[in-house]
Amino acid sequence: MSDNQLRVVWVYPDLLSTYGDQGNVLVVERRARQRGLDVARLDVRSDQPIPTSGDIYLIGGGEDRPQRLAAERLRRDSGLPRAVENGAIVFSVCAGYQILGHEFVNDLGQREPGLGLLDVVSVRGEGERCVGDVLGDIDSRLGLPPLTGFENHQGVTHLGPGSRPLAQVRIGKGNGSGDGTEGAYNDTVFGTYMHGPVLARNPLLADLLLKLALDVNALPPTDDRWYEALRNERISAAQQPA
Ligand code: GLN
Repeated sequence: MSDNQLRVVWVYPDLLSTYGDQGNVLVVERRARQRGLDVARLDVRSDQPIPTSGDIYLIGGGEDRPQRLAAERLRRDSGLPRAVENGAIVFSVCAGYQILGHEFVNDLGQREPGLGLLDVVSVRGEGERCVGDVLGDIDSRLGLPPLTGFENHQGVTHLGPGSRPLAQVRIGKGNGSGDGTEGAYNDTVFGTYMHGPVLARNPLLADLLLKLALDVNALPPTDDRWYEALRNERISAAQQPA
């Protein structure tokens, strides 16, 4: 943070923002303001350079072709890896998550390089598309309540030793790699298949991003009754028999 201002960057809303992923930006912004922080939100379209001085970067999901275009532009731009070198926190969803890995399979069926910010590789799943509500247990090191989200993806993601699974699924597919994991993270970069928007369904995950960006251990409490109602509704929906 500089000038006591938290800079939140929403990467490529014109290409990557399916299933209400914009909500992730709104939740981070709102929860930061509720803690008295001055927030500057920057929406960076795909024809604009990615600033390297942001504190938190959010990237959403997308259809296969926009995903390839976004990956091409992010590779050419190189602002996001530079921001990570500067210590920025990155939170990515679905197509955005795949792009942050070493490689994914694009809409042309070709292996396409990602940014290599997360030690994961994504391939195209051979089975049915993973669609539906998900319930999982977040890695206990993060000290967060269960993960709720909605998934819709064909990709399957394999984790390398440099990334930890964000969660283990109880219901749903997540990474789809057969080990029950969902998402991945390292010290500053997070990826998940969860839409929802996931930070509205898991506000303490948004708070984790804020704490990492601010380098603090705790934040003042907020009134989370609205979030709790949403969580309860979606968790019971996930538990209904298909
Ligand atoms: N195109 C990717 C897949 O199907 C990501 C989809 C998404 O972002 N919802 O795996």
